[in-house]
Amino acid sequence: MIDIKVFGHKVPDTDTICSAVILTNYLNNKWYNAKAYKLWELNNETAYLFDLLNLEIPETITSLPSWTKVALVDHNEKSQTIDNIDELDIEYIVDHHKFSITTSNPINIRAEKLGSTASVLYKMYKESNIEISKEIWTLMLAAILSDTLLFRSATTTKEDTIIAEELKSITWINDFKEFMNPLFEAKSNLWDINVIDLIKYDYKETEIAWKMIWVWTIETVNPSYALWRKEEILKWLEQIKKDWNLEFIMLSVVDIFWEKNITIVLNWKDSEIVEKVFDTKIENNLADLKNRLSRKKQVVPNLTEYFNNL
Ligand code: MN
Ligand code: MN
Repeated sequence: MIDIKVFGHKVPDTDTICSAVILTNYLNNKWYNAKAYKLWELNNETAYLFDLLNLEIPETITSLPSWTKVALVDHNEKSQTIDNIDELDIEYIVDHHKFSITTSNPINIRAEKLGSTASVLYKMYKESNIEISKEIWTLMLAAILSDTLLFRSATTTKEDTIIAEELKSITWINDFKEFMNPLFEAKSNLWDINVIDLIKYDYKETEIAWKMIWVWTIETVNPSYALWRKEEILKWLEQIKKDWNLEFIMLSVVDIFWEKNITIVLNWKDSEIVEKVFDTKIENNLADLKNRLSRKKQVVPNLTEYFNNL
């Protein structure tokens, strides 16, 4: 048996945590002795889900001994993974993002253009003869519904909806919206969180032509909690921009029920960029990015194009 540690990206979302648990189960049915981990604490949505299903939450790790065999789920970028990835032996990647990693050894990769890593894992299970528990099927469905924002995110494919329908008949979940409402509510329940944690809640750093740009997204059913704390958030954005020597920074507050993106922009220089790239007007550091729910598809590519053409 080969020991292998399985984990998703930093600042974990529901797809990342569920996929780590699901792939761990899969590998344990192959020729591995697999264990799931996380790189950071759960967000409230995932915590709610694990509590609901009465499942054990994976342990948090920040690094592993050299040459440990690892499997990455739901990410492959170095900036999003475990700190000492260069010392580890990547055995598996299961993902639905663009690829940027190079490895020194042969590797098992399964990546598809689907709305969640859980959708990819569903297909892997279907192709195998592995028996799985109702909890695992439920984790899959929850991860798909969460990552696609109930099929509203731009990354959703027809296949994701078909898979979710199939999972409906296997699990006890009959009504997607009814099932997800308390999870989305839990995710939005961030009133007492301090601003630095709030900002770290979900972020993506992107390096474009040696320029670091950071785009944060907070997905919520209650955007006012973040917008009311705009002044605090602006202070932190300014600090982070300075500390990390960033070229550009912005924070999108995405209202997943009304499908709106209100973005907080730091200064006139960044405002000019946002106005140009997204064809909008900034008022009081706020930009209306309309229904751009997907950072990956509708926000980062536009910024990348702008910075690459500078
Ligand atoms: Mn993810
Ligand atoms: Mn994902």
